[in-house]
Amino acid sequence: MHLCAQSSHLEVKVVLPINLLAGADLMATRTANETTNYFINQAFNILDIDPTMRDVLETPSREVRVELIITKDDGSLGHYIGFRVQHDDTLGPFKGGLRYHPNVDIDHARSLASLMTWKTALIGVPFGGGKGGIQVNPHELSEAELERLTRKFIDAIHDIIGPHRDIPAPDMNTNAKVMSWIFDHYSRYHGFSPGVVTGKSVDLHGSLGRDAATGRGCAFALREVLHHDDKKVEGTRVAIQGFGNVGSWAARLLHEQGARIVALSDISGAIYNADGFNIPDVMKHTYEEENTLVSYPGAQVIDGCDLLTCECDVLMPAAIGHVLTEENARDVQAKYIIEAANGPTTVEADAIFNERGIITVPDIYANAGGVTVSYFEWTQNIQQHRWEEDEVNRKLENHMVRAHNKLRETMHAYNIPMRQAAFVTAVERVLKATQERGLQ
Ligand code: NAD
Repeated sequence: MHLCAQSSHLEVKVVLPINLLAGADLMATRTANETTNYFINQAFNILDIDPTMRDVLETPSREVRVELIITKDDGSLGHYIGFRVQHDDTLGPFKGGLRYHPNVDIDHARSLASLMTWKTALIGVPFGGGKGGIQVNPHELSEAELERLTRKFIDAIHDIIGPHRDIPAPDMNTNAKVMSWIFDHYSRYHGFSPGVVTGKSVDLHGSLGRDAATGRGCAFALREVLHHDDKKVEGTRVAIQGFGNVGSWAARLLHEQGARIVALSDISGAIYNADGFNIPDVMKHTYEEENTLVSYPGAQVIDGCDLLTCECDVLMPAAIGHVLTEENARDVQAKYIIEAANGPTTVEADAIFNERGIITVPDIYANAGGVTVSYFEWTQNIQQHRWEEDEVNRKLENHMVRAHNKLRETMHAYNIPMRQAAFVTAVERVLKATQERGLQ
């Protein structure tokens, strides 16, 4: 099965070989949620957690599936399914994005909700984990239809979300505009509630710095990891898969810091330049002039799959899940992988990277900048107060540096790779909070 598809599939099932993993869980196919659970169970094993508590920590608190019917602009009916999974709220309200995509299903929502629980615990913001979305291709709907669909979704789930209950945010194919509709619609039921969603526009109770936050967090993560190895961002060759919110901000910020961005891709294809791209120029071309990355003049067009294995020091998958697999992991030339996307690495690829000494900076740390600044946005909403952008960025940097230092401590204490250290740290925190709050 060829996995590095330039397809619109968000995440794919991966056919596994029966040779890479020790233990009884050798199986033919692993879904996104099974991959997440595999990594969580590595932490459970290291911490020797008992079977009942494993079930408690692994199982989502609530899963909601709703039918959504709208009248389309031409008078016909549109029929869709929406999901919200609330994984754990021990450390704070459920928190996580909403995705609009044909591949949204309960398995992806479970996987991503669980990752949010561990991410918020690791980065140290007082939230739990949630995720959801609507099974829809938003590009096939008009803006008015999307608004009606979003409002129908909130009609269906408004009583299980809220500023102190569950706080959605943007994810793939949702943005500040969608968040504004949710804020407005929820407020019709419950009164003025900007804190019900994050990722709103700055003009409508959003936070300065939120748009760039995930990419900026990735840049901080890379800087910390390189510093630890006595290396600098300056001159480092970086390849980035995905040129949307996260990928383009990471590219822009790393370029400013002197990194050479040698490869870029989006759904239209990939481009390579060994000398490094002028990112502001690529941004202008892609977003203001041509609306496509691959037509950037003078660039060598390469296959999207080849980006993952191109000559570079750092590979940053910033698009979709399960793109680094046992099929390409041995060909990856990067020494560092910064998981800007959620779940880009399969269990097999992770094992291969560990064996090859490639440092994988896991998603629950690398892309935690987004939820960190979402927390700052929520805090500002609750306080009815606005922070300056440099205050937001400084606080984000503190969170990323602190979490990196904690990860190094855990790696050292247990002699484990960074992904396992991230899950061990997060699981320890949620477990402790669960025990202190009590389960009766
Ligand atoms: P986005 O929709 O803004 O951008 C996605 C980019 O990926 C686009 O450039 C798209 O063309 C590209 N893409 C899609 N399929 C591709 C493929 N097969 N090959 C190459 N490129 C492809 O989304 P985003 O907000 O940048 O999110 C990207 C990833 O980061 C997702 O996994 C998301 O869950 C994760 N993430 C996002 C945030 C955030 O704050 N936006 C926070 C944490 C994690």
